[in-house]
Amino acid sequence: MLQHDVIIVGGGLAGCRAALEIKKKNPNFDVGLVAKTHPIRSHSVAAQGGIAASLKNVDPEDNWEAHAFDTVKGSDYLADQDAVEILTKEAPDVIIELEHLGVLFSRLEDGRIAQRAFGGHSHKRTCYAADKTGHAILHELVNNLRRNGVTIYDEWYVMNLIFEENQAKGIVMYHIETGHLEIVQTKAVMFATGGYGRVFNTTSNDFASTGDGLAMTAAVGLPLEDMEFVQFHPTGLFPVGVLISEAVRGEGAYLRNSDGDRFMEKYAPKQMELAPRDITSRAITLEIRAGRGIHPDGSAGGNFVHLDLTHMGKEKIMERVPFCWEEAYRLVGVDAINEPMPVRPTAHYSMGGIPVNTDGRVRCNSTELTEGFFAAGECACVSVHGANRLGSNSLLECVVYGQRVGGKIADYIGDRLFPEINEQQYLDEAKNRIGQLLNQSGNLRIHNLRQQFQDAMSDHCGVFRTEATMAAGLEQIQHLKDQYNHLFLDDKDIHWNTELIEALELQSILKVGEAILTSAYHRKESRGAHSREDFPTRDDQTYLAHTLSFCNDTGVTIEYMPVVINRFEPKERKY
Ligand SMILES: Cc1cc2nc3c(=O)[nH]c(=O)nc-3n(C[C@H](O)[C@H](O)[C@H](O)COP(=O)(O)OP(=O)(O)OC[C@H]3O[C@@H](n4cnc5c(N)ncnc54)[C@H](O)[C@@H]3O)c2cc1C
Repeated sequence: MLQHDVIIVGGGLAGCRAALEIKKKNPNFDVGLVAKTHPIRSHSVAAQGGIAASLKNVDPEDNWEAHAFDTVKGSDYLADQDAVEILTKEAPDVIIELEHLGVLFSRLEDGRIAQRAFGGHSHKRTCYAADKTGHAILHELVNNLRRNGVTIYDEWYVMNLIFEENQAKGIVMYHIETGHLEIVQTKAVMFATGGYGRVFNTTSNDFASTGDGLAMTAAVGLPLEDMEFVQFHPTGLFPVGVLISEAVRGEGAYLRNSDGDRFMEKYAPKQMELAPRDITSRAITLEIRAGRGIHPDGSAGGNFVHLDLTHMGKEKIMERVPFCWEEAYRLVGVDAINEPMPVRPTAHYSMGGIPVNTDGRVRCNSTELTEGFFAAGECACVSVHGANRLGSNSLLECVVYGQRVGGKIADYIGDRLFPEINEQQYLDEAKNRIGQLLNQSGNLRIHNLRQQFQDAMSDHCGVFRTEATMAAGLEQIQHLKDQYNHLFLDDKDIHWNTELIEALELQSILKVGEAILTSAYHRKESRGAHSREDFPTRDDQTYLAHTLSFCNDTGVTIEYMPVVINRFEPKERKY
């Protein structure tokens, strides 16, 4: 059995920032960090547009209160305002700290960090490194991990959380290269396992964003929070779903329908293309439904709209958003200097996640906390994004809360002892699970079941939802869940068995999908990204509350938890 004072699962921005902070607080702490990918291949590396902070380099009128207000309004008043205050107040300092770590931000003429406009933000406050911001930050963090003596387990898949008597005691992990199983005994487990875009059939997320951390948390009987709030990013490149960053609109690109009209005029006359993502995604979906989408041959009635950069000019496009230009050119052969890009909404971000307090401590219900279990980043719900996240607030959350939770873990483990673990029991369970998957005699292939499930989630719980579609969806996914035992794996080897990993990930997708659909079914209102056609208005009387979903053998049960409102009273949201 391996031992570490702390084990962090996830090598993205949140996990790496936390690991560094623990080491900074006490270099003698033994910190392990596990990732199923290499850390620098975590989805954070794909973040393009930037990271928000009221540095006032471009807009001297900006301040943290304005950033906090924009965030709460963007969240449709579901964000916890104490958590938002921490996020926005600490933002300028964490950016300076990243710079001191070596992150190369883009610059203004006078040498200060440049800042651009982003959807839902009332000031130009998004710092960036061209359109490769996540890449710039993650590489520096990972370099610093090595320098600070964090033990890295890359390409190990964490299968289980060891959680007994309300306490996290360790994890079970599987070495993808060799098939070797290990138990890690620890004083604190931190999950920073990222999002779950792969629950849907069209997503901007990488293949590893399968919600494993959430599924492992749910598997030990702990709740998940606000799972119905899934962000659909307005501009996924058609047909692949890959992201065209909001930075492109931040730099001045237009959205046009088949008539060539800038249709956002109808939906958000003031903010236009820079309205928040939920509003813009709904607008695009409605234009497509009304027959003003575009076909690949340019005629009306198709499945996408146009993102038009042609008026911006080659120089600006190549200086500010070169990667987006390249993506469209490489993936769909569109040269955005001369022609518009085809785009439509794509599943992008999970506002919900593992419920935590502002110290990153995981909740076991609406009033109590677990011991030894922490989470931060996209897998956690603290909740700073409420019902809808503003662009460039997620990288910020990972860094602010990664750092903060790392510090809290260092304080927490100070005088704690290693817990007792029955190593053999957990090893046997994991071996049996793998053995069963390898040996079962079904005839269903993983990609087949996964595709059916992703299609069901996209069809029944997408940008718009109704009771009838979701009821049908719930029935369908029950049936698909039952099919899991009929999977057949072609690869029986223990070395580099990526099919086995996909089978384990599929189990996460199934669990997380059910929590999303059930939470959405029960919330009979429209708020932020959760848009019910049968309940089109927000209902603060009943639903100004966080959803807690508990997955158990018989299904998912729902409870609600109060929202922290201490600064901004809920108002109608207009842009
Ligand atoms: C294309 C794209 C562009 C984006 N652009 C922006 C942007 O410009 N600004 C912004 O603020 N946000 C942006 N976001 C969102 C933001 O990038 C993410 O929310 C954030 O990076 C998540 O970081 P994280 O540390 O929580 O998780 P991730 O970076 O997703 O890392 C998760 C880690 O967990 C590990 N892991 C998961 N499951 C297991 C397991 N079972 N066993 C072992 N390891 C596991 C993975 O290997 C990985 O290391 C973007 C997202 C996408 C998809």
